[in-house]
Amino acid sequence: MSKRNFPFLLFLFLMSCVTIQAQSPKIEYIAHAAFVIESSQGTRVVLDPYHSYRQMGFTFPEDISADFVLITHPHYDHDGSQYFSKNTPVYRDAGAYQFKDIVFKGIASKHSFAEQIGKSGNQNYNTIWVVEVDGIKIAHLGDNEVPTTEEVKQLADVDYIIGHPRDAYFTLFPNAVYIPNHYLLPEITKHKNWMQPVDGWLTDKKGVVQLATNTYKLIQDEASTKILVFTPSSFVQEWSQEYYAALAAMKEGSELQKASGDFEMILTAYDKAIMLAPYVMDGYYAKAVTLSRKQNYQETIAVLQKAFVAVPDMDWGVEAKARALLAEAYIATNQSTLAYSQYVWLSRHDRIVNRMTIEKAEAFIKNYLANK
Ligand SMILES: [Zn+2]
Repeated sequence: MSKRNFPFLLFLFLMSCVTIQAQSPKIEYIAHAAFVIESSQGTRVVLDPYHSYRQMGFTFPEDISADFVLITHPHYDHDGSQYFSKNTPVYRDAGAYQFKDIVFKGIASKHSFAEQIGKSGNQNYNTIWVVEVDGIKIAHLGDNEVPTTEEVKQLADVDYIIGHPRDAYFTLFPNAVYIPNHYLLPEITKHKNWMQPVDGWLTDKKGVVQLATNTYKLIQDEASTKILVFTPSSFVQEWSQEYYAALAAMKEGSELQKASGDFEMILTAYDKAIMLAPYVMDGYYAKAVTLSRKQNYQETIAVLQKAFVAVPDMDWGVEAKARALLAEAYIATNQSTLAYSQYVWLSRHDRIVNRMTIEKAEAFIKNYLANK
Protein backbone atom coordinates (compact mmCIF):
# COMPACT_ATOMS: atom_id res chain seq x y z
CA MET A 1 0.00 0.00 0.00
CA SER A 2 1.47 3.33 -1.04
CA LYS A 3 1.67 6.14 1.45
CA ARG A 4 -0.43 8.30 -0.84
CA ASN A 5 -3.32 5.84 -0.75
CA PHE A 6 -3.25 5.48 3.00
CA PRO A 7 -5.49 8.45 3.92
CA PHE A 8 -8.01 7.38 1.29
CA LEU A 9 -8.06 3.77 2.53
CA LEU A 10 -8.34 4.98 6.09
CA PHE A 11 -11.29 7.10 5.01
CA LEU A 12 -12.94 4.05 3.36
CA PHE A 13 -12.30 1.96 6.44
CA LEU A 14 -13.85 4.57 8.74
CA MET A 15 -16.81 4.98 6.39
CA SER A 16 -17.46 1.25 6.44
CA CYS A 17 -17.37 1.27 10.25
CA VAL A 18 -19.92 4.06 10.28
CA THR A 19 -22.09 2.18 7.78
CA ILE A 20 -21.95 -1.07 9.76
CA GLN A 21 -22.91 0.78 12.93
CA ALA A 22 -25.73 2.66 11.22
CA GLN A 23 -27.16 -0.61 9.89
CA SER A 24 -27.80 -2.13 13.30
CA PRO A 25 -31.11 -1.35 14.90
CA LYS A 26 -31.02 -1.98 18.61
CA ILE A 27 -33.17 -2.51 21.64
CA GLU A 28 -32.48 -1.11 25.10
CA TYR A 29 -34.06 -2.30 28.32
CA ILE A 30 -34.86 0.36 30.89
CA ALA A 31 -36.60 -1.73 33.59
CA HIS A 32 -39.92 -3.48 34.28
CA ALA A 33 -41.84 -3.29 30.93
CA ALA A 34 -40.01 -0.25 29.53
CA PHE A 35 -37.88 -0.63 26.40
CA VAL A 36 -36.39 1.65 23.76
CA ILE A 37 -36.12 0.53 20.15
CA GLU A 38 -33.76 2.52 17.95
CA SER A 39 -33.65 2.21 14.17
CA SER A 40 -30.50 2.36 12.03
CA GLN A 41 -31.40 5.99 11.28
CA GLY A 42 -31.46 6.79 14.97
CA THR A 43 -35.25 7.07 15.35
CA ARG A 44 -36.17 6.16 18.92
CA VAL A 45 -39.41 4.80 20.29
CA VAL A 46 -39.98 4.24 24.01
CA LEU A 47 -42.46 1.52 24.95
CA ASP A 48 -44.30 1.42 28.28
CA PRO A 49 -42.34 3.88 30.45
CA TYR A 50 -43.38 3.38 34.09
CA HIS A 51 -44.15 5.87 36.85
CA SER A 52 -41.18 6.50 39.18
CA TYR A 53 -43.03 6.49 42.48
CA ARG A 54 -45.49 3.66 42.57
CA GLN A 55 -44.65 0.05 43.46
CA MET A 56 -41.62 -0.39 41.21
CA GLY A 57 -38.97 0.48 43.82
CA PHE A 58 -36.86 2.45 41.34
CA THR A 59 -37.18 5.59 39.28
CA PHE A 60 -37.69 6.02 35.57
CA PRO A 61 -34.75 7.89 33.97
CA GLU A 62 -36.64 11.01 32.94
CA ASP A 63 -34.05 12.33 30.48
CA ILE A 64 -34.36 9.39 28.09
CA SER A 65 -34.89 10.77 24.60
CA ALA A 66 -37.74 9.55 22.41
CA ASP A 67 -39.18 10.54 19.04
CA PHE A 68 -42.45 8.96 20.09
CA VAL A 69 -43.93 6.83 22.86
CA LEU A 70 -46.09 3.70 22.71
CA ILE A 71 -48.34 2.78 25.64
CA THR A 72 -49.98 -0.63 25.88
CA HIS A 73 -52.41 0.47 28.60
CA PRO A 74 -52.85 3.32 31.07
CA HIS A 75 -51.68 1.70 34.32
CA TYR A 76 -48.88 3.29 36.36
CA ASP A 77 -46.37 0.53 35.57
CA HIS A 78 -46.82 1.04 31.80
CA ASP A 79 -47.72 4.68 31.38
CA GLY A 80 -45.24 7.26 32.58
CA SER A 81 -45.85 9.25 29.41
CA GLN A 82 -45.92 12.47 31.47
CA TYR A 83 -42.10 12.32 31.62
CA PHE A 84 -41.82 13.18 27.93
CA SER A 85 -42.15 16.65 26.49
CA LYS A 86 -45.63 17.80 25.49
CA ASN A 87 -44.52 17.67 21.83
CA THR A 88 -43.63 13.96 21.93
CA PRO A 89 -46.41 11.94 20.24
CA VAL A 90 -47.95 9.27 22.47
CA TYR A 91 -49.91 6.41 20.88
CA ARG A 92 -52.39 4.22 22.79
CA ASP A 93 -54.90 2.99 20.25
CA ALA A 94 -54.98 0.15 17.74
CA GLY A 95 -54.17 1.08 14.15
CA ALA A 96 -51.43 1.20 11.52
CA TYR A 97 -48.87 3.98 11.79
CA GLN A 98 -45.49 5.20 10.60
CA PHE A 99 -43.04 7.61 12.20
CA LYS A 100 -40.02 8.46 10.05
CA ASP A 101 -38.44 5.06 9.27
CA ILE A 102 -40.35 3.12 11.95
CA VAL A 103 -43.54 1.33 10.90
CA PHE A 104 -45.77 0.16 13.76
CA LYS A 105 -49.20 -1.24 14.41
CA GLY A 106 -51.38 -1.52 17.47
CA ILE A 107 -53.54 -4.61 17.92
CA ALA A 108 -56.57 -4.17 20.20
CA SER A 109 -56.43 -6.70 23.03
CA LYS A 110 -57.52 -7.09 26.64
CA HIS A 111 -55.59 -6.67 29.88
CA SER A 112 -55.27 -9.85 31.95
CA PHE A 113 -58.19 -10.11 34.43
CA ALA A 114 -60.02 -7.63 32.18
CA GLU A 115 -63.45 -8.45 33.55
CA GLN A 116 -62.43 -7.88 37.18
CA ILE A 117 -60.67 -4.62 36.33
CA GLY A 118 -63.58 -3.40 34.21
CA LYS A 119 -66.11 -3.92 37.01
CA SER A 120 -64.69 -0.99 38.99
CA GLY A 121 -64.85 1.20 35.88
CA ASN A 122 -61.09 1.10 35.35
CA GLN A 123 -59.54 0.90 31.90
CA ASN A 124 -58.97 -2.73 30.91
CA TYR A 125 -57.81 -2.47 27.32
CA ASN A 126 -54.31 -3.45 26.28
CA THR A 127 -52.89 -2.50 22.92
CA ILE A 128 -50.29 -4.96 21.63
CA TRP A 129 -47.62 -3.07 19.69
CA VAL A 130 -45.66 -4.45 16.74
CA VAL A 131 -42.73 -2.22 15.86
CA GLU A 132 -40.87 -2.78 12.59
CA VAL A 133 -37.34 -1.38 12.30
CA ASP A 134 -35.08 -2.16 9.38
CA GLY A 135 -37.17 -5.19 8.44
CA ILE A 136 -37.17 -6.63 11.97
CA LYS A 137 -40.43 -6.96 13.88
CA ILE A 138 -40.66 -6.67 17.64
CA ALA A 139 -43.93 -7.20 19.52
CA HIS A 140 -44.62 -5.79 23.00
CA LEU A 141 -47.56 -7.64 24.55
CA GLY A 142 -48.01 -5.34 27.55
CA ASP A 143 -50.27 -7.02 30.12
CA ASN A 144 -52.11 -9.22 27.64
CA GLU A 145 -53.18 -12.50 29.31
CA VAL A 146 -52.29 -14.98 26.54
CA PRO A 147 -52.88 -13.90 22.93
CA THR A 148 -56.09 -15.16 21.33
CA THR A 149 -56.00 -17.19 18.09
CA GLU A 150 -56.75 -14.02 16.13
CA GLU A 151 -53.97 -12.11 17.90
CA VAL A 152 -51.50 -14.95 17.34
CA LYS A 153 -52.32 -14.81 13.61
CA GLN A 154 -51.48 -11.11 13.55
CA LEU A 155 -48.21 -11.78 15.38
CA ALA A 156 -47.16 -14.77 13.30
CA ASP A 157 -44.13 -13.18 11.61
CA VAL A 158 -42.58 -11.28 14.51
CA ASP A 159 -38.88 -11.81 15.28
CA TYR A 160 -38.96 -10.78 18.95
CA ILE A 161 -41.73 -11.09 21.54
CA ILE A 162 -41.68 -9.04 24.74
CA GLY A 163 -44.07 -10.62 27.24
CA HIS A 164 -44.62 -11.71 30.84
CA PRO A 165 -42.70 -14.87 31.89
CA ARG A 166 -45.10 -17.50 30.48
CA ASP A 167 -44.50 -20.93 28.98
CA ALA A 168 -47.39 -20.51 26.53
CA TYR A 169 -45.34 -18.21 24.30
CA PHE A 170 -42.92 -20.99 23.28
CA THR A 171 -45.70 -22.93 21.58
CA LEU A 172 -47.54 -19.87 20.28
CA PHE A 173 -44.43 -18.22 18.76
CA PRO A 174 -41.93 -21.04 18.09
CA ASN A 175 -39.80 -18.95 15.72
CA ALA A 176 -39.50 -15.76 17.75
CA VAL A 177 -36.87 -14.80 20.30
CA TYR A 178 -38.63 -14.26 23.59
CA ILE A 179 -37.79 -11.34 25.88
CA PRO A 180 -39.41 -11.86 29.30
CA ASN A 181 -40.24 -8.67 31.22
CA HIS A 182 -42.50 -7.48 34.03
CA TYR A 183 -40.91 -9.26 37.01
CA LEU A 184 -39.34 -8.25 40.32
CA LEU A 185 -35.81 -6.80 40.02
CA PRO A 186 -34.14 -7.45 43.40
CA GLU A 187 -30.75 -6.51 41.91
CA ILE A 188 -31.84 -2.87 41.75
CA THR A 189 -34.31 -2.50 44.61
CA LYS A 190 -35.08 -3.87 48.06
CA HIS A 191 -38.75 -2.91 47.63
CA LYS A 192 -41.02 -5.94 47.29
CA ASN A 193 -44.14 -5.62 45.17
CA TRP A 194 -46.60 -8.22 43.85
CA MET A 195 -44.13 -9.77 41.37
CA GLN A 196 -41.54 -12.56 41.58
CA PRO A 197 -37.96 -12.47 40.24
CA VAL A 198 -37.53 -14.20 36.87
CA ASP A 199 -34.81 -16.68 38.00
CA GLY A 200 -37.22 -19.36 39.16
CA TRP A 201 -39.05 -19.38 35.86
CA LEU A 202 -35.77 -19.53 33.91
CA THR A 203 -34.29 -22.59 35.65
CA ASP A 204 -35.67 -25.28 33.32
CA LYS A 205 -35.45 -23.22 30.13
CA LYS A 206 -33.12 -23.83 27.19
CA GLY A 207 -31.44 -21.25 24.94
CA VAL A 208 -31.30 -18.57 27.64
CA VAL A 209 -28.89 -15.71 26.99
CA GLN A 210 -28.31 -13.54 30.06
CA LEU A 211 -27.05 -10.18 28.88
CA ALA A 212 -24.62 -8.26 31.08
CA THR A 213 -25.86 -5.00 29.57
CA ASN A 214 -29.20 -3.38 28.76
CA THR A 215 -28.48 -2.98 25.03
CA TYR A 216 -28.76 -5.53 22.25
CA LYS A 217 -28.37 -5.35 18.47
CA LEU A 218 -31.45 -6.67 16.74
CA ILE A 219 -30.89 -9.32 14.09
CA GLN A 220 -33.22 -11.35 11.94
CA ASP A 221 -33.32 -15.16 12.30
CA GLU A 222 -31.34 -15.72 15.47
CA ALA A 223 -29.80 -19.18 15.52
CA SER A 224 -29.62 -20.50 19.07
CA THR A 225 -31.00 -17.72 21.23
CA LYS A 226 -34.50 -18.53 22.43
CA ILE A 227 -34.76 -16.29 25.48
CA LEU A 228 -33.02 -12.94 25.99
CA VAL A 229 -32.73 -11.70 29.55
CA PHE A 230 -31.59 -8.10 29.97
CA THR A 231 -29.82 -6.26 32.74
CA PRO A 232 -31.77 -3.09 33.62
CA SER A 233 -30.38 0.28 32.52
CA SER A 234 -27.68 1.75 34.75
CA PHE A 235 -29.66 5.03 34.68
CA VAL A 236 -32.40 3.44 36.75
CA GLN A 237 -32.00 4.40 40.42
CA GLU A 238 -33.39 2.78 43.51
CA TRP A 239 -35.83 4.93 45.50
CA SER A 240 -34.04 7.34 47.85
CA GLN A 241 -34.02 6.95 51.65
CA GLU A 242 -36.26 10.02 51.83
CA TYR A 243 -38.81 8.40 49.57
CA TYR A 244 -38.83 5.15 51.58
CA ALA A 245 -39.40 7.32 54.69
CA ALA A 246 -42.22 9.20 52.91
CA LEU A 247 -43.84 5.85 52.08
CA ALA A 248 -43.64 4.82 55.73
CA ALA A 249 -45.37 8.09 56.71
CA MET A 250 -48.06 7.45 54.08
CA LYS A 251 -48.63 3.98 55.51
CA GLU A 252 -48.85 5.38 59.03
CA GLY A 253 -51.45 7.90 57.85
CA SER A 254 -53.60 5.34 56.06
CA GLU A 255 -53.45 2.91 59.01
CA LEU A 256 -54.60 5.67 61.36
CA GLN A 257 -57.33 6.48 58.84
CA LYS A 258 -58.53 2.86 58.74
CA ALA A 259 -58.56 2.67 62.53
CA SER A 260 -60.55 5.97 62.63
CA GLY A 261 -57.61 7.54 64.43
CA ASP A 262 -57.11 11.12 65.48
CA PHE A 263 -57.72 13.58 62.64
CA GLU A 264 -54.74 15.80 63.49
CA MET A 265 -52.42 12.79 63.73
CA ILE A 266 -53.52 11.60 60.29
CA LEU A 267 -52.82 15.03 58.82
CA THR A 268 -49.44 15.15 60.58
CA ALA A 269 -48.47 11.82 58.98
CA TYR A 270 -49.42 13.04 55.50
CA ASP A 271 -47.64 16.37 56.08
CA LYS A 272 -44.52 14.37 56.92
CA ALA A 273 -44.89 12.43 53.64
CA ILE A 274 -45.25 15.70 51.71
CA MET A 275 -42.22 17.18 53.44
CA LEU A 276 -40.07 14.12 52.67
CA ALA A 277 -41.23 13.76 49.04
CA PRO A 278 -42.72 17.07 47.87
CA TYR A 279 -42.30 15.93 44.23
CA VAL A 280 -44.84 13.08 44.60
CA MET A 281 -48.60 13.64 44.48
CA ASP A 282 -49.71 10.92 46.89
CA GLY A 283 -49.16 12.81 50.18
CA TYR A 284 -51.07 15.88 48.96
CA TYR A 285 -53.88 13.72 47.60
CA ALA A 286 -54.25 11.68 50.83
CA LYS A 287 -54.28 14.89 52.86
CA ALA A 288 -56.92 16.42 50.56
CA VAL A 289 -59.13 13.32 50.86
CA THR A 290 -58.84 13.46 54.66
CA LEU A 291 -59.82 17.14 54.68
CA SER A 292 -62.76 16.62 52.33
CA ARG A 293 -64.11 13.86 54.58
CA LYS A 294 -64.26 16.47 57.34
CA GLN A 295 -66.05 18.74 54.84
CA ASN A 296 -63.18 21.20 55.03
CA TYR A 297 -63.42 22.02 51.32
CA GLN A 298 -61.50 25.31 51.40
CA GLU A 299 -58.46 23.48 52.75
CA THR A 300 -59.00 20.59 50.32
CA ILE A 301 -58.83 23.04 47.43
CA ALA A 302 -55.77 24.80 48.88
CA VAL A 303 -53.83 21.52 49.26
CA LEU A 304 -54.67 20.34 45.73
CA GLN A 305 -53.86 23.69 44.14
CA LYS A 306 -50.50 23.67 45.90
CA ALA A 307 -49.89 20.12 44.63
CA PHE A 308 -50.59 21.02 41.01
CA VAL A 309 -47.80 23.59 41.23
CA ALA A 310 -45.37 21.42 43.23
CA VAL A 311 -45.79 18.27 41.10
CA PRO A 312 -46.03 19.38 37.47
CA ASP A 313 -45.48 15.94 35.90
CA MET A 314 -47.57 13.87 38.29
CA ASP A 315 -48.76 10.38 37.52
CA TRP A 316 -51.95 11.01 35.51
CA GLY A 317 -53.75 8.22 37.45
CA VAL A 318 -53.50 10.27 40.65
CA GLU A 319 -53.98 13.45 38.63
CA ALA A 320 -57.38 12.22 37.45
CA LYS A 321 -58.43 11.36 41.02
CA ALA A 322 -57.14 14.71 42.28
CA ARG A 323 -59.03 16.64 39.59
CA ALA A 324 -62.25 14.74 40.37
CA LEU A 325 -61.85 15.59 44.08
CA LEU A 326 -61.05 19.21 43.24
CA ALA A 327 -64.21 19.43 41.11
CA GLU A 328 -66.30 18.11 44.02
CA ALA A 329 -64.74 20.60 46.41
CA TYR A 330 -65.49 23.43 43.95
CA ILE A 331 -69.11 22.30 43.74
CA ALA A 332 -69.34 22.18 47.54
CA THR A 333 -68.08 25.77 47.70
CA ASN A 334 -70.38 26.99 44.89
CA GLN A 335 -67.61 27.50 42.33
CA SER A 336 -69.25 25.70 39.43
CA THR A 337 -67.19 27.34 36.67
CA LEU A 338 -64.00 26.03 38.27
CA ALA A 339 -65.63 22.59 38.70
CA TYR A 340 -66.62 22.71 35.02
CA SER A 341 -63.02 23.23 33.87
CA GLN A 342 -61.83 20.21 35.90
CA TYR A 343 -64.61 18.04 34.43
CA VAL A 344 -63.69 19.21 30.93
CA TRP A 345 -60.14 17.98 31.50
CA LEU A 346 -61.46 14.63 32.76
CA SER A 347 -63.88 14.16 29.86
CA ARG A 348 -61.08 14.91 27.38
CA HIS A 349 -58.96 12.10 28.85
CA ASP A 350 -61.48 9.34 28.35
CA ARG A 351 -58.82 6.80 27.29
CA ILE A 352 -57.13 6.93 30.65
CA VAL A 353 -59.70 7.98 33.24
CA ASN A 354 -62.09 5.67 35.14
CA ARG A 355 -65.42 5.29 33.30
CA MET A 356 -67.59 6.30 36.29
CA THR A 357 -65.61 9.54 36.62
CA ILE A 358 -66.11 10.23 32.90
CA GLU A 359 -69.87 9.68 33.23
CA LYS A 360 -70.02 12.05 36.19
CA ALA A 361 -67.97 14.63 34.29
CA GLU A 362 -70.18 14.42 31.19
CA ALA A 363 -73.38 14.72 33.24
CA PHE A 364 -72.02 17.80 35.02
CA ILE A 365 -70.88 19.44 31.76
CA LYS A 366 -74.28 18.87 30.15
CA ASN A 367 -76.08 20.34 33.14
CA TYR A 368 -73.68 23.26 33.46
CA LEU A 369 -74.00 24.25 29.81
CA ALA A 370 -77.81 23.91 29.91
CA ASN A 371 -78.08 26.23 32.92
CA LYS A 372 -75.54 28.81 31.86
ZN1 LIG B 1 -48.27 -4.26 34.30
